[in-house]
Amino acid sequence: MTASASSSSSQFAPLSTADIRERYLRFFESKGHLRLASYSTVAPDPTTLFTVAGMQPFKEQFMGAPAVFGGVASKRVTTAQKCLRIGDIENVGRTLRHCSLLEMLGNFSFGDYFKRESLTWAWEFLTSPEWLGLDKSRLYATIYQDDEEAFTIWTEENGLPADHILRFGADENFWPADAPKEGPNGPCGPCSEIFYDRGPKYGDDTWAEYAETRESARFLEIWNNVFPQFDRQEPLADGTPVLKDLPFKNIDTGMGLERIATVVQDVYDFYSNDVFAPIVAKVAEMSGQAYEGPQSVSHRVVAEHIRSVSMVIADGSQPSNTGRGYVVRKILRRACRHAYLLGLREPSLFRLVPIVVERMGGAYPELRENEAKIAATVRAEEESFLRTLEGGIQRLGKLLSGMEKGATLSGSDAFVLYDTYGFPVDLTKEIAEEYGVSVDEAGYAESLENAQNLARAGSKYGKSELFGGNQEALDGLSPTVFVGYDDLQADGEVVALVGAGERLKHLPAGSEATVVLSRTPFYAEGGGEVGDTGRIEWDGGAGVVRDTRKTPQGVFLHDVLVESGELKEGVSVRAAVSGERQAIQRHHTATHLLQSALRAVLGGGVQQKGSLVAADRLRFDFSHGAPLSAEEIAAVEALVGRWVSANFPVTWQEMPIADAKAAGATALFGEKYGETVRVVRVGGSVEYAGQTVSSMELCGGAHVTRTGDIGAFVILSDENVAAGVRRVEALAGEQATAWVRERLNATAKTAALLNTSPDNLEGRVTGLQAQLKAAEKDLSGLRRQVTQLQMGAGGGGSAGAPLREIGGYRVAAVQLSGVESGELRGAADTLLESSGADLVVIATDKGLVVKATKDAVARGAHAGQLIGRLAAAGGGKGGGRPDMAQAGITDPAAALAALDSSLS
Ligand code: ATP
Ligand code: MG
Repeated sequence: MTASASSSSSQFAPLSTADIRERYLRFFESKGHLRLASYSTVAPDPTTLFTVAGMQPFKEQFMGAPAVFGGVASKRVTTAQKCLRIGDIENVGRTLRHCSLLEMLGNFSFGDYFKRESLTWAWEFLTSPEWLGLDKSRLYATIYQDDEEAFTIWTEENGLPADHILRFGADENFWPADAPKEGPNGPCGPCSEIFYDRGPKYGDDTWAEYAETRESARFLEIWNNVFPQFDRQEPLADGTPVLKDLPFKNIDTGMGLERIATVVQDVYDFYSNDVFAPIVAKVAEMSGQAYEGPQSVSHRVVAEHIRSVSMVIADGSQPSNTGRGYVVRKILRRACRHAYLLGLREPSLFRLVPIVVERMGGAYPELRENEAKIAATVRAEEESFLRTLEGGIQRLGKLLSGMEKGATLSGSDAFVLYDTYGFPVDLTKEIAEEYGVSVDEAGYAESLENAQNLARAGSKYGKSELFGGNQEALDGLSPTVFVGYDDLQADGEVVALVGAGERLKHLPAGSEATVVLSRTPFYAEGGGEVGDTGRIEWDGGAGVVRDTRKTPQGVFLHDVLVESGELKEGVSVRAAVSGERQAIQRHHTATHLLQSALRAVLGGGVQQKGSLVAADRLRFDFSHGAPLSAEEIAAVEALVGRWVSANFPVTWQEMPIADAKAAGATALFGEKYGETVRVVRVGGSVEYAGQTVSSMELCGGAHVTRTGDIGAFVILSDENVAAGVRRVEALAGEQATAWVRERLNATAKTAALLNTSPDNLEGRVTGLQAQLKAAEKDLSGLRRQVTQLQMGAGGGGSAGAPLREIGGYRVAAVQLSGVESGELRGAADTLLESSGADLVVIATDKGLVVKATKDAVARGAHAGQLIGRLAAAGGGKGGGRPDMAQAGITDPAAALAALDSSLS
């Protein structure tokens, strides 16, 4: 099916995804909106792991905070925001309308315009031939049950027939869904969703039926217009919802770019649009499996997931067993499994990364900047996952070889394979079939559901997935004795082994499970600091500790892969934290100094909003309204440097929280602390602009013993992660020195490419820019001349195209080549002016433009109607305003030849 056969595109069809994104942002700019770049997918807000909607970075503005962005005040903002929806991961491949990563086009009003503008502009953007030109008769809307105002705007101002509108309750037409009853607290309000009828080839259901089914392949939700006018509060004791009016009314809209592209390009699903099609094609090529039939689910999952994983890695997430990293791992492993199902037995997903970067890198330069890192991360994860799969195959082989033909593998066995080895049940079934064994699928589904329920219940402290979410398996265990502030090695006893939700007696070599020790030197993830990694050894065996976390009761959970021997409950082990801990400690103490330095340089308004302390870097999020200047960054670095060279001792002490606060220790706002807290203090202060700056923080993390251990310190970046929240990334010690060396080398290389030295780089680039600008100016002058020459030549004379009299109008018509679509309108203006015509028509092999003078319009000329006929003759489709219209065509001569019959 080609896009020109669709009624949905009236101009240079089909619009690419990038064109649609650009048009949307431009449309809202023309309505007075400030265009902002997408915020990171990594949400600054600790209550959500990832950004799930375009509005998320603006929560505070909806509640009344000043709407100032990079120093520009604007109550109207428009963005294309990349979002990651964890809840939709499992939908990918199954439904045709869900991605895990989506680009949400949004326009926002902070107490400025409201419902009327929101809905009439949405209508204008969707239906005007100048923008998307969708067929009005295919549009539908839902509204909140008693929102008469929305109903009137839809029917009276937009002219939508009343039978194209459905009314729903708070489950569908309130955002967030069911907020009045379920929360969360914060801005919320009724909404109106816009649907597009994709036509009978997608289903023979009707709009009226949608009221019942709420699920349709034919009626696709494309755009949600939300009217946040309430601040949701805790409900009353009897459960009555409490919605407080916000001081002003807001607008928050979100249109899925992937969905609207599917509609505009009239393709079957996301995977046939211009972003995904090349990825799917590569998957088919690598696997030798065509994109068709039931297996096509796997192509879709792989293509979609590699795109989302690339984006979140570009935004700084890494696969791990905790928090965001766990989600990254989950998405990647799901993609790996599907690649495996397609027969790919070697790491292959990483080969798709360049296509993602090529397709999306224009709008999201972070993809280009991180391409090598993304590919390397994906590849490493694939390698480790393929090894796990092999472990699963062996285990399954053992199970099956002991079974009779015709027997059934239990659902719980299939589940353990899935949960512990990430072994997909489809694969289990496939292999079992070879042994003539079937799989108890109902039992599998039951085990899966149990585990999910438990995981949900346990997810308050996250990551319970590793032990199958079964907290009971940890019942009765005493808190672990942690000795790792002082010792990086310690002996302990194995008090529990937990795998797939069960207490185990022993772990064979090659297996991975959670190990609880009586005493441990491993730091458990917390307070922004990552969990320790390292090794454990015992008589007759050894294992790798891949991550450490703990329960709220203080039981430390070590994620262990047994390398050799067998690990048993009751065995005594020697535990040793890896050398990475030193780097983590450097980064942690550096984070404290960074916070004090930021407060000294930027002022006391700096409040910590989040942090990450890892071996390879540190990240610190804090409240601050503007980007840091080069001077501020230098001042912060210098201040940290002075602490380092003073080589002060770093000490810690436990004390009652009241004493800590009285002593002025910095605490994390909104964080709950126990009665006794640990205070980490740097034993000495430095001067900055007349202030004495010191560092004392409530912190459970691991630190160096003297500030001198930190060594070099360098700030890499300062970026905006949400309105009013900045993120600084920095390095300490060896990591800092290595980074600086790499940068110096890169600068030297760039300078060599430009035939100059690093010192003269700036002058050289400025010179080149000036040259380029001059060349561009020459070029555009030349183009104008060529266009004009052609317009003269088209009519055979030098004074421009000859005028012809058709249907009572003076018409100038020319055929041009080498003119870009974007320049057509300008050419038409020139021709209209120079020829003295009432109507001008310019045709190229791609496009057609018709322009009429005011006078001609007053006499009844209609460019939009004329272009419809001309475009039809020229192999295209089009419409437009009475004075100006544009269309996409393929045969310019035929379009021009139709002039006589179309006008008279
Ligand atoms: P659905 O009911 O189809 O899951 P939703 O109600 O979750 O959609 P909203 O939260 O209102 O959608 O998001 C606004 C818009 O974002 C939707 O109208 C749709 O165009 C798009 N959208 C939402 N979820 C996805 C997704 N998983 N993949 C692609 N686009 C999406
Ligand atoms: Mg949804």
